[in-house]
Amino acid sequence: MSGYDYDLFVIGAGSGGVRAARMAAAKGVRVAVAEDLHLGGTCVNVGCVPKKLYVYASEYMQEIEEGRGFGVNADSVSFDWATLRDNKKHEIARLNGIYGKLLDNSGCTRINGRATVTGPNSVSVNGETITAERILVAVGGWPFVPDIPGKEHAITSNEVFDLDSFPQRVMVVGGGYIAIEFAGIFAGLQAQTELVYRGDLFLRGFDQEVREFTATEVARKGIKLSFNTDVASIEKRSDGALDVTLSNGEVRVVDQILYATGRVPKTANLGLESAGVAMNSKGAIEVNDHFQSSVPSIYALGDVIDRVQLTPVALAEAMSLVDHLYGSGEGELPNYELIPTAVFCQPNIGTLGLTEEQARERFDSVDIYVSDFRAMRHTISGSEERTLMKLIVESATDKIVGIHMVGADAGEILQGLAVAVIAGATKRDFDRTIGIHPTAAEEFVTMRQKTR
Ligand code: FAD
Repeated sequence: MSGYDYDLFVIGAGSGGVRAARMAAAKGVRVAVAEDLHLGGTCVNVGCVPKKLYVYASEYMQEIEEGRGFGVNADSVSFDWATLRDNKKHEIARLNGIYGKLLDNSGCTRINGRATVTGPNSVSVNGETITAERILVAVGGWPFVPDIPGKEHAITSNEVFDLDSFPQRVMVVGGGYIAIEFAGIFAGLQAQTELVYRGDLFLRGFDQEVREFTATEVARKGIKLSFNTDVASIEKRSDGALDVTLSNGEVRVVDQILYATGRVPKTANLGLESAGVAMNSKGAIEVNDHFQSSVPSIYALGDVIDRVQLTPVALAEAMSLVDHLYGSGEGELPNYELIPTAVFCQPNIGTLGLTEEQARERFDSVDIYVSDFRAMRHTISGSEERTLMKLIVESATDKIVGIHMVGADAGEILQGLAVAVIAGATKRDFDRTIGIHPTAAEEFVTMRQKTR
């Protein structure tokens, strides 16, 4: 046992911090965790969880409409924002309680307050100095809004979940997955929605065909897509509406403008510079394979290291770190190459591994299998929605190196297939798998005809 107050002091009780704290405490390590906002961090409070609940809400609206083709008539369908928002609040409060209990039951000391680093082995919280053999910085990130005139009238993902009233006219700014998901939520809940992005197509880094297909589908849902466009200024009218002037001179009148233009590591004024912790130009803490910073007793993981900003990645990093510091040390390092992920736009995107563009750069020869079809449900739902499935195969080994889908439940479908791909499945393995009929997913094991 160290001569410090604690063996491990964790700053931030979000996805990564809570997992690391609980796992370490379960091994008998003396752990304290400081949190200055809400237990569970971004994911539970203003990220994955509330977002998915709102995605479900928007899908209900669509499905009720599509039910007409099946003889289901739910006339006078209406949406009550306050019910959704308040039910969400109750659920998040329940989850906050669960996180508190998990930490308490594992034997961690919980501290409410903002912690700052005061040295390699000391932190300050609520005016008190606490020492620890090791410090883990798991403070996450914070939305970034560019400096434009009127930026104070914009909201971010921190505010969007708890709006007093539901906006009828919404502009979403950004081209990443969060922007597209919120555009889908608002449009699904019947708001007039425009997505404005300064690049020529959203979802940079995703497979090009997936990006183009998604743009067609998202536009089909009634979202106005304005690419190569930016916001020049925002002005508030006396009635509360916002005049948004775009870079092309056009003016839009909206009730809310949501900025989803990226997140920055929350490292400002944390005492890291004076402690000598090296950070990159974006303020992300630089760490080695074992999440150790330039100060050997200070570690960092999750969004604050800005590798891959996803909850399961923060969890994997936390488990890897605890195993390295307090376990056998034989556990695997997180596999950043093969991270299955989903975008909960409508329809969903599910993806794993290389894009076609990356595969063509990496391998001499690749085989591409693409299927673009109308899912069975939409043969009579009245919806024009289409589904895209794509397999990328390295010709020399027959291995699946990339798998992508745009369609209903793509995230659910990809999770299972990801196990096969990570285990090294070949196209032949997919071909000899019997399909489950009738499903959309069976298409992944029946694509016989090479597309290119
Ligand atoms: P966080 O969860 O952000 O936790 C950091 C914690 O540290 C916070 O609670 C913060 O209050 C606290 N803190 C900060 N500074 C201090 C301090 N000085 N003292 C004390 N406490 C401090 N990921 C997915 O995998 N799937 C999704 O569908 C998904 N959707 C998302 C949707 C949105 C709108 C957003 C914003 C994010 C989404 N994410 C999603 C990303 C995911 O939420 C993050 O990757 C994840 O929460 C990162 O975990 P973390 O532990 O690094 O940080």
